[in-house]
Formats: sequence, structure tokens, C-alpha cells
Amino acid sequence: MQLLDPIVQFQAELQQIRRDIHAHPELCYEEQRTADLVAAKLTEWGIPILRGMGGTGVVGIIRNGDSKRAIGLRADMDALPMQEINTFAHTSRHPGKMHACGHDGHTAMLLGAAHYLSKQRDFDGTVYLIFQPAEEGGGGARKMMEDGLFVQCPMDAVYGMHNWPGIAVGSFGVMPGPMMASSNEFEVTVGGKGGHAAQPHKGIDPIMVAVQIAQSWQTIISRNTNPNDAAVLSITQIHAGSTTNVIPDEAALIGTVRTFSIEVLDLIEQRMREIARHTASAFNAELQFEFKRNYPPLFNHPQQTAAAVAVLQSMVGAQQVDAQVEPTMGAEDFAFMLQEKPGCYVFIGNGEGDHRSSGHGLGPCNLHNPSYDFNDALLPIGATYWVSLVQSLLSRQRPEE
Ligand SMILES: [Zn+2]
Ligand SMILES: [Zn+2]
Repeated sequence: MQLLDPIVQFQAELQQIRRDIHAHPELCYEEQRTADLVAAKLTEWGIPILRGMGGTGVVGIIRNGDSKRAIGLRADMDALPMQEINTFAHTSRHPGKMHACGHDGHTAMLLGAAHYLSKQRDFDGTVYLIFQPAEEGGGGARKMMEDGLFVQCPMDAVYGMHNWPGIAVGSFGVMPGPMMASSNEFEVTVGGKGGHAAQPHKGIDPIMVAVQIAQSWQTIISRNTNPNDAAVLSITQIHAGSTTNVIPDEAALIGTVRTFSIEVLDLIEQRMREIARHTASAFNAELQFEFKRNYPPLFNHPQQTAAAVAVLQSMVGAQQVDAQVEPTMGAEDFAFMLQEKPGCYVFIGNGEGDHRSSGHGLGPCNLHNPSYDFNDALLPIGATYWVSLVQSLLSRQRPEE
């Protein structure tokens, strides 16, 4: 593996920064301390910053040479509302909040690249270092864009990275096209007519209607979508009733839909709506249908993905780069940025959890698990990837001219 010496020499400080952020997790749009820390470090290293986009977002701007080329590198800063069960020294100081997705590490890796680039200006163009809030359900990427990210920081392409447990340390996974799914939620309420459970003929039982809808929805992915298009429709909550001898007035179906394309999502939402409406009407029940689209599918642009793969291969060796990694049904708000700008998002292997030598919980070192911890061995690897990407895409050779 070809790591950059100045970054390796900076590893101890990066680890200290990472663990400090881990110990002080902040939730969506509350990343004040984290943003202050990022801003202070960038300023200390002489990097001009923009603050306020997306509330707590921070952008560092490093220019060198006179090329008009510009790229964005993006990290996320927020933590999750869950209780950490690790007991090591840098465990969360904030009850009910935890860096269980490794955004502490993402922030530290991008700071590592910032430190290097501020000192060794071996590139020609502009690098925007994007530290965004609220990836975990808050759509911080979109919020920064609404606040003018790509207007104030015009860039040719944007790149993202997420640690991935299960992929070995020193290895990467990526694929061109849809690598992560769209994430959507629905809440459907069937309005019936409640009454005595011994006199069902005097009412309209919303539970039976909801059950019919739930069953019929399960034919959408087996009968309506193309078998080649992966999709998930999961009903995760059914709510109705309060006791044994009362038919309730209402029954609710709540859940999530995941797809790798907007076309498939349109089809599923439309079929869900039709089935629910017609089933309710067949039983003389009322229907309220709410469908909320959270994050779109994450689509890696082929040209930028090929460029990222080439950089990774020269850095860690071709064997360590899975350029056709299996896509995941998880979602990621970096997808919004990739709808506006070409770019690429990669998975950096976080290993199997062996790095948690002591003081960790009993669970697996998986994302969103209370035993999870970001693997500090990734800090110089991820930072070197960022810098190598800059050196390649903003090369002084100016291949395009
Ligand atoms: Zn997460
Ligand atoms: Zn995450």
C-alpha cells in the first residue's frame, strides 16, 4: 500500500481528533462543536472557510496554480440517537448519542487530507472540502445545496467515501451506476367504522382491510416490477385497536420502500396507491395515503468512477479494489450531490472489528450497532485516497489542455 509519508506522520494527531469527535457526538443539524473543531483546524492550517450552509456545514477552500478545474471532497459529521455500550476511553460522553456510523472518522480523514494539501501544494486547481451536517435522515447534503453550495463553490465533480465493515482494511469497494438505494417511507391509514366486536356487521373493520392491503402489496415486487430491478417493500409497523372486544376506527400500515431507480420507485408508489385505494373502496373504508421520498438512489457516474478506481488501484493494488462491489439497499444523502454533479462514492474497508482490542461491547462492529467503532487504521488510508484523487484529477500536467 502506498501511503503518503506526511499523512502517516500526522496519524497520531488525526487519531486524537477522531477520538475527540467520537467522545462528543452531535445529532443532525446540532453539530456545533464538531463544526467549530473542523473550522478551527482548517483556519489553523491557513485554509479559508465558508460556514453556515446547511446550518452547521463547513467548507474549506484550497486553491493552487491557475487552473479553473475544481473538485469537491465530502465528509459527514453527524452521529446517531442511540446509546453506545463501548467502555473504552473515547466512548460517548453524551448519553443516547453515538458515532455508530463512523462519521467521526470521515471527518478526521478529510481533515487529514486538508492538512496535507495545505502544506504540500502539489496540484493545480481548487479543492472544496465539504463537511456536511445531518446525513442520518436529515438530508444535510441537500440542505447545503439549497443554501448555495454548488453556486458559491462551483466544482466539476464531487466525491464521497464511507467506511464499510466487512471489507478488509486496505481494500475498497465501488461500482459504476446505482450503488445504494433510494429510501422512502409510507404511512397508510384505513378509516373504518368501529364498534362492538360481537357485532361486526354494524361496522367496517379497518383491520381486515389493512391486512388485505398488506397482502396485496406483496405482489407488487413479485408481479409488477421487472425481476431484474431489485426493490424492497417492507411493512414495519401495523397499528390498530386497544382491547379484545372493540373493533377500532382505524388501522395504520407503516414501512419503507427501497429501489435503485426513480422509475421503479414511481411504479411501486403508484401500485401501492392503487391497491390501497381500490381495496379500501371495496370494503367501504376510507383511506389516507402518505408516501415520503427521503433519499434518491446513489448513482456513481461511470467516468468519475473509473478515475477513482484507477487512483485506488495505484494506491492499494488492483487486488484490493473491488470495482464491481455488490450494491446495498442502504441509502445515503450524498446521492443528492450526485444528482447535480458527476462524481463517485466509495466504500473503504473498516475490517471485521479486530481493532476494538478491549472495552467494546459484545455486538458486531457493524454500522449502527452500539458496539461499533471506526477503525483508526483507516485514517491515513482514507486521507491518502483523498489526496491522491486531487493529485490525479487536478494534476499539474493538465492532460485536458
Ligand atoms: Zn449511518
Ligand atoms: Zn454513515
